[in-house]
Amino acid sequence: MKTDYEALIIGCGPAGMGAALELKNAGVDFAIIEKDAPGGKVNIAPRVDNYPGQHEIPGPDLAMVLFQRILDNKIEMISDEVTSLTKDGDLFTLIGKYATYHAKTVLIATGTKERKLGFENEDRLLGHGLSYCALCDGHFFKDKVVAVVGGGNVALKESIHLAGLVKKLYLIHRRNEFRGDRKLVDKIKEMDKIEIVTPYIPLEILDNGRVTGLKIQNREDGSEKVLDIDGIFPLIGQDPNSEFIKIDGVKNEWGTIPFNKGMVTSVEGLYVAGDVTPRDIRQIYLAEHDGKVAAKSMIEFLGK
Ligand code: NAP
Repeated sequence: MKTDYEALIIGCGPAGMGAALELKNAGVDFAIIEKDAPGGKVNIAPRVDNYPGQHEIPGPDLAMVLFQRILDNKIEMISDEVTSLTKDGDLFTLIGKYATYHAKTVLIATGTKERKLGFENEDRLLGHGLSYCALCDGHFFKDKVVAVVGGGNVALKESIHLAGLVKKLYLIHRRNEFRGDRKLVDKIKEMDKIEIVTPYIPLEILDNGRVTGLKIQNREDGSEKVLDIDGIFPLIGQDPNSEFIKIDGVKNEWGTIPFNKGMVTSVEGLYVAGDVTPRDIRQIYLAEHDGKVAAKSMIEFLGK
């Protein structure tokens, strides 16, 4: 089994696939390592309607459209989970569950995972009234009643965005003080459509196959109430998939990977693309674009 390459891409989401097509065109000797199904988070998006050149399309179908280009170009795929990335001299070492790989240059395109509320129906309701991305899915809730859970900047910013679309929005946070920026909180307080509900925690998402309500509990007096809602956005943080990176100085305090022009990280030969970067806006076409920019840098680095 081949384990040494000029380049390796970790992650077969839009960022990794965008990069792969460029590397292929340049004749680079490379492979993509992916632990799950190709497509990354596109696979769990119920519907996507903002991918250029496509009408509204179910996420898994778009993932297949994107992956078909990888198949058409006969790009090598390795099914493995990278558990360690180190650099020794000029060479990167990637330890996977099934093999150890080496490459002169590496692209990290591993994305993030959403923090979940932890209810048994949470996965089932995804796409049936539950979404982790107001920017992507907000318009499906036009003139509906929704709840946003969370008190960080993402919950605050996405509530402001959603308020322009929905009939009413409950912003539910477990403390009376918000973790997010003061000026966002001030703005939200002025918005008629948003009702701030604190200090409450969600107890249960009610559903009939679609979200119908949210049972919440007051953390001060223990009282409970049910909000009638059509949609819920748990926005309680995202964790970057970057635990496997064992090279000092690559990650910031959040575990995301800062970059400079050309998607260059702080380590020579190491590049980053997509949601695992510190950027706030997370979109398929942006990740794909990152991947292509990173690939150009890798091609230049390899002198191809
Ligand atoms: P966050 O700031 O961590 O906020 C998460 C919010 O969800 C908090 O208000 C938290 O409550 C609440 N929460 C957490 N677990 C909960 C649970 N089980 N039930 C109910 N509520 C829960 O996350 P975020 O809103 O996604 O924002 C992340 C911030 O970090 C942004 O400002 C972003 O720009 C920044 N960030 C930066 C980078 C970077 O690389 N530059 C990377 C990631 C994030 P408490 O307040 O009570 O804890």
